[in-house]
Amino acid sequence: MKNDQDTFIEHRSKNSDDDNTSNSQNSLNLQEFQTTNKQYDDENIKIFKNSFEKEINIDIEDVQENYLKIFENFFIGITIVDNNERIIYWNKYAEKLLKMDEKELFLKNVSTLYPQEEWSKIRAENVRQKGIKNKIETKMIKKDGEVFECELSLCVLKGAEGKISGSIGLINDLSSLKTTERKLIESEEKYKTIFENSAVAIMLTDENEKTVSWNEYTEKMLGFDRDDLYLKNVKNLYPPEEWKKIRSENIRQKGIQHHLETKIFTKNNHLLDVDISISVLKDYRGLIVGSIGIIKDISEQKNIEEELIKSKNKFREIFDATSDFLLYIEKEIIIDINQTALDLIGLEKQEIIGKSFSELKMIFSDNNLRDHLDAIRQANYGKKIIDYESDLKSNNGNIYRFLFAVDCIKEGNETKGLLIRGKDITQRQRAWQELLKLEKKYRVLAETSADGVITIDPLGRLTYVNPSFERMCARRKSQILATLFRDYLSDDSVYFFQQVCIDARKKDEKIENIELELAHADGNLIPIEVNISPLKKENEFVGMVCTIRDITERRSVEDELKKSERLKTEFMNIAAHELKSPVTPIKGYLDLIISDKDTSEQIKKWAKVSLRNAERLLRLVNDILDVSRLDTDTMRFDMEKLNPFEILNEIAEDMKPVIEGKNLKFIINIPKELPNLMGDKHRLSQVLKNLLVNAIKFTDNGSITLGAEKRDQFIEIYVKDTGIGISKDELKKIFNKFYQAYTGDDRKNEGTGLGLFICKQILQKHNGDIWVESDLGRGSVFHIKIPYLHKMVVNLNN
Ligand code: ADP
Repeated sequence: MKNDQDTFIEHRSKNSDDDNTSNSQNSLNLQEFQTTNKQYDDENIKIFKNSFEKEINIDIEDVQENYLKIFENFFIGITIVDNNERIIYWNKYAEKLLKMDEKELFLKNVSTLYPQEEWSKIRAENVRQKGIKNKIETKMIKKDGEVFECELSLCVLKGAEGKISGSIGLINDLSSLKTTERKLIESEEKYKTIFENSAVAIMLTDENEKTVSWNEYTEKMLGFDRDDLYLKNVKNLYPPEEWKKIRSENIRQKGIQHHLETKIFTKNNHLLDVDISISVLKDYRGLIVGSIGIIKDISEQKNIEEELIKSKNKFREIFDATSDFLLYIEKEIIIDINQTALDLIGLEKQEIIGKSFSELKMIFSDNNLRDHLDAIRQANYGKKIIDYESDLKSNNGNIYRFLFAVDCIKEGNETKGLLIRGKDITQRQRAWQELLKLEKKYRVLAETSADGVITIDPLGRLTYVNPSFERMCARRKSQILATLFRDYLSDDSVYFFQQVCIDARKKDEKIENIELELAHADGNLIPIEVNISPLKKENEFVGMVCTIRDITERRSVEDELKKSERLKTEFMNIAAHELKSPVTPIKGYLDLIISDKDTSEQIKKWAKVSLRNAERLLRLVNDILDVSRLDTDTMRFDMEKLNPFEILNEIAEDMKPVIEGKNLKFIINIPKELPNLMGDKHRLSQVLKNLLVNAIKFTDNGSITLGAEKRDQFIEIYVKDTGIGISKDELKKIFNKFYQAYTGDDRKNEGTGLGLFICKQILQKHNGDIWVESDLGRGSVFHIKIPYLHKMVVNLNN
């Protein structure tokens, strides 16, 4: 410091060579005096001046010394320039500020310390004329080129005659102030951005709890606009009970309150679940000037929480309501137990929660408890334990059989606890015992059954045979078990049996009455009837169970029956033929007697009766012959292409006299354009005539219609009458052999009951069908359908 001071004095003495400069020293002192004594009145100044002038020679040195000290240690840069704007004096702070040393500063042109435009600005201030200029905001350049902001005050220095000798500049470094200011603005901007863009509502209130400022989100969240919110009493934003809650927090005293869950009104009076944080705002004296509230919409979160609670409750309900025994433990300590389990063991929850599993002696026997603890230990190693059986004691002494499993409940990778699940299998156990008893019963049944009973495995090997079966094939159980059942069947039966087995397995159902042949040990074949049923164990196919009946006797009876049936048909055939032969000449002679003019009327009458009966007999014989031919499949059919229109008209022509002879109306409804059909003309006429004869027979009034229609693929012919009709019961039976419905005494012996049976058979030979619709008392319609020939087929035939 000493050195610096010396240097400065040296500079000053150097400059003192210059007159102007020495004058300016006096001028400076005077100026100082003038500025510091402004408050004195003229009188005082005079006194001061006198004493000042008297002591000036001694004191001036002291004053200068003091000034120098101030000058040097001032925290403002000071530069003094001469009239040519060269720096001649400066203080330490100026050096520091400009980062320049003595050599660099001395006689430096002061304009080079400013950026060009700044210097022009200073120049424009005209300080030389004004004499002084305070606080010019400008910029200066440091030695390293850094530009800093500063506040410059300039004062012109004048000599004794008032001539300008230079000027003094005071440089106040504003750079740190400016940076702070900038930072302040920036941070204010930042907070403003946060305030405006925040996704929470932020509200400021004044000391009277009235809203004065808020961010955009507040309006969005609550649906209010500016006018609604401005100077609104915040109290009115909350339901009264919520406001009370907020008040009770004593926030004004605490100064801050974080995360208070409450409800707030929206514009349309909905209540929104919110989380509020409030800070009290105070001024510098500590007086409350308002508050700032941050309000977060947590309605969604609340919803989720509610849902979570609901789902938790739901799980709780499921946990309690499930029919399984559920017990949850953590480190062997019982944490939870469900209602089913409590009901079962007859204990209260509090009697069990918090206990160690090994204390459950009132529920499990020592052995069972050991099994459980073993399972728990293994489950703790991460092994899933399923299906071990254990008894469970209830406090009223009942013992249940349970099937247990232990599941790991994990949290991340860690095992958190274990869930012990139990299923009541007491009933199942009982059922199983019953089943075993039943099985014994069935075994006895099978053992004593007169029918053979066997079971075979899926490969067809015998797994069980009963004594009857042993007898049937004349082999001992020990010889046949584990051999193939098919080895004991005739060659013809093997394939069939296998087919049936495949079928039964595929359809998973019993197949009955299969006729096979069993090879007896003596080489004979025994006819057997087999019922086959698939055997299942836990839904898996494990083989078949077969019951086998020896039908040797039944077979021989059936054979006998067939033989006698055949004989009967043969006999009927011969008898009919034999009967037919004598009737023909009888009919001939009776015709002669009737037509002979010499025959008396009485004899004619007798002859007519005889003829009618002969004809009936012939009809009967013919019918019997037809039936026996149909039975033996010996009826001849001469199939040819037929025109239905022609045939139907011929028949109508033949039957017309008889119908009209009975005073019935005959309606013919046969379209001309009917396609041809293949058939035996004689047999089809027989069918239609039979239907028409029946219609006449059973109709006394009204009409008989013969009609035909072309249908899809078929020609349908019908014979309709307005006769007595047929009851519902009989409708199904009238096509049976020998069936006659009740038709009144007078007609009792008229028919044979064979006509419709023969009709049905004839139509079946034509790939057709016959059926009837009838209304009792109103008449019947007999329908026939026969397939027609398609044109292409006709052409081929042609
Ligand atoms: P039958 O030779 O006795 O007429 P059918 O086989 O031709 O034998 O007829 C069997 C029975 O069907 C008849 O006995 C009669 O009861 C009943 N039947 C047949 N056709 C008619 C009809 N058109 N109206 C009422 N009943 C009828």
